[in-house]
Amino acid sequence: MKYTEITVRYGELSTKGKNRREFIGRLNGNVTKALAAFPDLHIYPKRDRMHIALNGTDSDAVIEKLSMVFGIQNFSPSLKIAKDVETLKQTALEMMQELVPVAKTFKIDTRRSDHEFELDTNQINLLLGDYIYDHIPGLTAKMKHPDVTLRVEVRRDGIYLSSQTIKGAGGLPVGTAGKAMLMLSGGIDSPVAGYLAMKRGVEIEMVHFFSPPYTSERALAKAKQLTAKLAPYCGTIKFIEVPFTEIQEEVKRTVPEGYLMTVQRRFMLRLAVKLAEQRQGLAIFNGESVGQVASQTLESMVAINDVTSMPIIRPVATMDKTEIISIAEKIDTFDLSILPFEDCCTIFAPPRPKTKPNLEKARFYESQLDGEALMARSLAGVKVTEIRSHDEFLTTDQIDIQSVL
Ligand code: ATP
Ligand code: MG
Repeated sequence: MKYTEITVRYGELSTKGKNRREFIGRLNGNVTKALAAFPDLHIYPKRDRMHIALNGTDSDAVIEKLSMVFGIQNFSPSLKIAKDVETLKQTALEMMQELVPVAKTFKIDTRRSDHEFELDTNQINLLLGDYIYDHIPGLTAKMKHPDVTLRVEVRRDGIYLSSQTIKGAGGLPVGTAGKAMLMLSGGIDSPVAGYLAMKRGVEIEMVHFFSPPYTSERALAKAKQLTAKLAPYCGTIKFIEVPFTEIQEEVKRTVPEGYLMTVQRRFMLRLAVKLAEQRQGLAIFNGESVGQVASQTLESMVAINDVTSMPIIRPVATMDKTEIISIAEKIDTFDLSILPFEDCCTIFAPPRPKTKPNLEKARFYESQLDGEALMARSLAGVKVTEIRSHDEFLTTDQIDIQSVL
């Protein structure tokens, strides 16, 4: 079927005037960015739905991109025809005939914004229902849970028909909930946390700590590649590399082994908060999951969280590893995440970190360091880049390493 339009239905949307305008405005911007590769599209956001005129563009390619945009409940590729009853009957029949192999029951669902059209919604439902029933043997009408719903929309400029309703990504348009920093490591959990943050409308910027020469260029490239995987959900993502070598060396030199991890994490969090403040971020997101590893006990969170009063949101906090992995697989970050490129935490990880660190001790050990100066030097070396979905940072050989191990 050569579709002419995609009709987009909005997701969870507060009906209040100002919020609705902001929601629709953002969604329009995000859809426009997501579909930037298709110059012939015409996007019209309306109060209760959005219309994307295809102008000859292949609908499958557009659908693939559109299904990643948050704030969309569902959408339907549709066909525009002239406002003529005969054409309507014939087109409806043809659309249903294409679906007969899979459909046994159907329903017609008509909406009419042009009230001057010669038939009202009930008349259209009945007329098309009867016509299809008479012409396709074995197909029966069913009002509740039919196999196919043929949607008919009578608008001023024509009649739009669609037989498919494709599930959208749900959530809220990215940006409607403000901006936050995501602490992105190379692991499985933090990209999933980032995806979930965006799903709730939060614009994220990636904060990644790296420690050359202890961590390699490919570990950094891996974090960037993970960012590129998440970019289609929002267009582009800022990636902030924070040099962490000097802090890790100083912590390692000064702090007893049991507290190395706690103190390192306190520095990471402080730096993420500083960056958030500089960049108008309102919160920190991370990939911590309660009880998963030593740094993720509640006691440990107390000892680390102590450095800030900025909200720290942990979208995967209560998920089991298997639940996190199934999301990672769905968003296609899993295969990248398991590439064995060492990150800064694994290298400086003590063999036995304290699982229940004491807050006072953590504060005390940390006070032995000149934290302000260390942080200032780290922040002076920060590098920000903007990452798009098709950017490539790892070579195919590096990505394929898994299969040779
Ligand atoms: P992940 O799968 O996200 O790496 P993990 O199970 O390996 O998590 P940790 O290494 O303890 O857990 O890290 C916990 C969280 O701390 C991460 O989810 C991430 O948000 C943050 N974090 C850890 N290392 C880094 C890093 N190098 N840069 C930025 N954030 C980090
Ligand atoms: Mg990690």
